[in-house]
Amino acid sequence: MNGVNQGDLYSYVVRAVVAPLWANKERSPYLKHYKRFLRTQYRPLEQVREDQWTRLKSLLDHAYAHTGFYRDRMDSLGITPADIRTWQDFERLPLLTKDDIRAHRDRMVADSIPSDRLFPKKTSGSTGVSLSFFVDEDSLQWKRGCALRHDEWTGWRLGERIGAVWGNPEYKKSWRGYVRNFLLERTTVLDTLRMDEDAMTMFHAQILKEKPPLLFGHAHSLYLFARFVQANNLSPIRPKGIISTAMVLHDFERALVEEVFGCKVTNRYGCEEVSLIACECEAHQGLHVNMDTLHFECLRDGKPAQAGETGAVVVTDLTNHGMPFIRYLVGDTARMAETPCACGRTYPRIASLEGRIADYVRTPEGEYISGISLTENFAMVLEGVKQMQIVQDELDHLLFRVVQGDGGRDQALRADIARLVRERFGTSMRHDVEYADSIQSETSGKYRFCVSKLDSAGMFGAGRP
Ligand SMILES: [Zn+2]
Repeated sequence: MNGVNQGDLYSYVVRAVVAPLWANKERSPYLKHYKRFLRTQYRPLEQVREDQWTRLKSLLDHAYAHTGFYRDRMDSLGITPADIRTWQDFERLPLLTKDDIRAHRDRMVADSIPSDRLFPKKTSGSTGVSLSFFVDEDSLQWKRGCALRHDEWTGWRLGERIGAVWGNPEYKKSWRGYVRNFLLERTTVLDTLRMDEDAMTMFHAQILKEKPPLLFGHAHSLYLFARFVQANNLSPIRPKGIISTAMVLHDFERALVEEVFGCKVTNRYGCEEVSLIACECEAHQGLHVNMDTLHFECLRDGKPAQAGETGAVVVTDLTNHGMPFIRYLVGDTARMAETPCACGRTYPRIASLEGRIADYVRTPEGEYISGISLTENFAMVLEGVKQMQIVQDELDHLLFRVVQGDGGRDQALRADIARLVRERFGTSMRHDVEYADSIQSETSGKYRFCVSKLDSAGMFGAGRP
């Protein structure tokens, strides 16, 4: 019983009996995948890449043979999958944009996968328009096994309880869901769509009693819950690990969450379309790319980004044959780490996620400025501003949407903004200031500091050649 939380022996029952039986009943191979991923996570990088290459080649053959969209794409370049012999050859294929998916979704679906193996999915539309697509059953099982391995990088083990700060919990939608959650998934949820004081008080009491070793949630929601616990001086909650995902995790959010819950935050990055893209390990020095599921590229001006450079994230999902995503421009930006990780795993690491492409402001001279740092910076300098959002609607025009604090500083505030714009963007950038009563967060509950209305596929020169 070394290191065992004796209060939760049921977690052993789940791990050894319930989870395998359930997987057997559902004919779900995710536990087999998970065990293999556990064994192979310290392989040399060359082996990982060889594996990726084999699976990429079979994906390209499949996409050419079974989807009209990719066949047309390769035909228009005058090539077939047999002509793609190296990674450099592969990198000549055009990028896949969200607009491509909206325009050609049905022609991207493979004609060889039975429709009962295809699951429809949808993004929340945080960039303005939602996206609908399909993922096949085998891909979902693979990704579930992979995510489980990454969950355990926090110190949590399969079968143990989880406390989640998350929107719209799945299990509450049917009685089967309840039973499954009670016996197998063991997750207690604070619903972020109704995160008021009563809900947070109740969630805190439940977590205090159940002691889940893992807290899981959106970066900002975890931060809000931590702030609530701190402000109300509630009894300490001490999980083994915390997974923050679905949003950029700011340094100030990480610092407060770690302080309040007394453990490290594991930052995770993914998206609905391809699931988990990268995750921090026990070393917490950047996020390892999920090379078991994806081929990952970080591009600047259409080429791999250099050390220290921010680039656009481009992924190829090696597992979803139902609707292949080949060189998909996710819409986020990242900077890669150069040195190997202390944990011994060889998967490359993202040193930092720099936000969405659409969250960048571009200067007329072609520089990129991160909207988040800009708003934080401006808001610090400007007196009397409660909240601010910057909208870039043209290459040489910015709109500042401002919620005033005490008000009454109109002229001085306008003069301050004009000075900052001149300093940061030069004299060719025009701007306007607009007052608002409030700046709404989006329907997904995320708040955007900066909105670029410029063509995002063209940003970082990552547009189609
Ligand atoms: Zn590591």
